[in-house]
Amino acid sequence: MKKYNFSAGPAVLPREVIEKAAASVLNYNNSGFSILEVSHRSKDVVAAMDQAIALVKELYGLSDEYEVLFLQGGASTQFFQIPMNFLNEEETAGYINTGAWSKKAIKDAKAYGKVNVVASSEEQNFNYIPKNISIPSDLKYLHYTSNNTIFGTQFQSLPETDVRLICDMSSDIFSKPIDVSRFDLIYAGAQKNMGPAGVTLVIVKKSALGTVSRYVPVMLDYRTHIENVSMYNTPPVFAMYVSMLTLQWIKDNGGLEAMAKRNEAKAKILYDELDRNSLFKGHSVAEDRSLMNVTFTGVSEEMENEFLDRCKKEGLDGLKGHRSVGGLRASIYNALEAEGIQKLADLMRAFEEEKA
Ligand code: PMP
Repeated sequence: MKKYNFSAGPAVLPREVIEKAAASVLNYNNSGFSILEVSHRSKDVVAAMDQAIALVKELYGLSDEYEVLFLQGGASTQFFQIPMNFLNEEETAGYINTGAWSKKAIKDAKAYGKVNVVASSEEQNFNYIPKNISIPSDLKYLHYTSNNTIFGTQFQSLPETDVRLICDMSSDIFSKPIDVSRFDLIYAGAQKNMGPAGVTLVIVKKSALGTVSRYVPVMLDYRTHIENVSMYNTPPVFAMYVSMLTLQWIKDNGGLEAMAKRNEAKAKILYDELDRNSLFKGHSVAEDRSLMNVTFTGVSEEMENEFLDRCKKEGLDGLKGHRSVGGLRASIYNALEAEGIQKLADLMRAFEEEKA
């Protein structure tokens, strides 16, 4: 039976990517060595890094003002690395609080400068994206989380402001085209739409760097990694390499426009069933629904568990919701095939019929 991986991350990767990666673990580019044992300074690994960077630039149509970095420490390191590099103590940054990951970013930023939480949806357990936010124009930057992996909400457009944007795109990176020129920095842990865990993508505008007066440790200074093309220290070679293969897969499958179209069609299958089915209820308000993480609850916990067991038996895995929302979560990233989502929707319908 074919299995479908609905995990929130690490998450499903394209089968072709996994097959190529597996072949490279055994014999990398006919070198007779595994990719796991070759030097990061070897010609082939340097070429893979260059290719990964070039693909990010090509997919997002980046101008020369932007640099692409492959770093370590996960998106969680960016929570403090960003204010450390962008925010002086006496300056204020704006943050939009749309969930657990935003909250962590806010907590760390407070250690480096002033933080103005310009909007929050916490009072409704983060089931919506704040709108019509009043954003002071003198903020150093405005940070937000474009897709809330845990709560299943997603910004449908960029925040309306002239303030420079910084965004955690961990769970919707490469899922649709975006206007990068509005951002000073974009970051994402790889382990959803881009590759395996262990590498973090950072896209940064060069001219926005170098404005803080504090000492920034060399390893945490973005300029170090720009100067050394993400090879200042030993990079996570395998995670970067698999990310490169996934980026190539995105390009070969029509790029970000095509991803967006596919993702819209895929999410519609599930949201249509959620709206129809009397046993399940979506967490997010309709207009802010995420195309990546579909969060929903059943009429009782007992019923949810019974349904989760059924899903597992049918090869649909990773559907248990995050503990802070409960219920179920279907993560339907770029690489998850529409057939898997259709199978889930069909099972929801069959389950409802059985219970009637
Ligand atoms: N931000 C978002 C939106 C996430 O979904 C996650 C992880 N699920 C993180 C940040 C943290 O990422 P990491 O585990 O790479 O530190």
